[in-house]
Amino acid sequence: MTEEQLPIRQTIKSITPYQPGKPIEEVERELGISNIIKLASNENPLGPSPLAIEAMKEAVEQTRLYPDNDCFYLRRELAEFLGFSPEEVIVGRGSDEVIHMLGLAFLNPGDEVIMAKPQFTLYDFTAYVMDCRPVLVPMRNFVTDLPAMKAKVNERTKLVFIANPNNPTGSMVTAAEVDEFLSGLPAHVMVVLDEAYCEYVDREDYPRSFDYIREGRNVISLRTFSKIYSLAGLRIGYGIARKEIIGWLNQVREQFNVSNVSQAAARASLRDPDQVKRARQVNDEGKQYLCAQFEQMRLSYVPTQTNFVLVDVGRESQPVFAELLKRGVIVRPGGIFELPTHLRVTIGLPEENRRFILALREILGS
Ligand code: PMP
Repeated sequence: MTEEQLPIRQTIKSITPYQPGKPIEEVERELGISNIIKLASNENPLGPSPLAIEAMKEAVEQTRLYPDNDCFYLRRELAEFLGFSPEEVIVGRGSDEVIHMLGLAFLNPGDEVIMAKPQFTLYDFTAYVMDCRPVLVPMRNFVTDLPAMKAKVNERTKLVFIANPNNPTGSMVTAAEVDEFLSGLPAHVMVVLDEAYCEYVDREDYPRSFDYIREGRNVISLRTFSKIYSLAGLRIGYGIARKEIIGWLNQVREQFNVSNVSQAAARASLRDPDQVKRARQVNDEGKQYLCAQFEQMRLSYVPTQTNFVLVDVGRESQPVFAELLKRGVIVRPGGIFELPTHLRVTIGLPEENRRFILALREILGS
């Protein structure tokens, strides 16, 4: 059978494959260097809670068996932790999987999906896979432009993705802005508040997404164990919405979607609030250091409410990215977000941040 004869759906051919941050092993192989640091995928440098590691070790002994299909205990504990009922919580293989479930449950071919530009690439990917049209709305000054997004809502709109804070900019929209966005929104529109980085936010005017859910609105909040809880490698995240919505998502959920090791680690992580505090503290200190350095270097950056910073290096950033790689520092070049002079750097441990700044100063001569 020739390539042309393969019965591939037309829409799949137009998808640009996801470009993940370069893995450490790949850079080691390609450049023949060691002692590499990865500040490319917004991972948490502290690592998981010791309680989670202990729980994972125990759970490994049980991997002969299929996991609990309903994440019964985890949903119960999450519900208590968040102030909801277990029926209002769904757990996925990363919040990525919950986004996928939203696509499966809500999107018919030809529907429209509204998102900001630049955005987390899974949103337009989901639209394409479901034969839908992603509607990308440019940000204003690197902040999601909710009025412009609302102006794009029409009878074909089914989902609106609002990453808050947003990736790759690190900026957030306020409670007043989201209130305004939601008011008078047609009932056939589902709003996804993707709050993967919410635990890093320190601004008082951050929206209380749970209130929208309790008010019975068409809102789902997405959260993850990949960031502040440092379990990215396990792939576990969750969504919170009213019962009815969660029920429909369950309808399209794969059976046994979350491993027993992931469930155990997530449950244990919820019992270690001190680890979360430490993660926030390391991040806050790293953020202050990086931003102060950028200011000294006269580089503009987007004020961040997350564990990463988007910085404008004032010249084409791809060569700067390549030079950083040679020095063993992996970041994200802005080109993938159509920001050709920017780099997105994840906030690391103090010595990692220093190494990045040293290398950047050397490359830029500043
Ligand atoms: N949403 C946003 C905005 C993200 O940046 C990420 C991770 N990069 C995710 C969702 C996915 O997180 P998870 O690891 O839970 O799939």
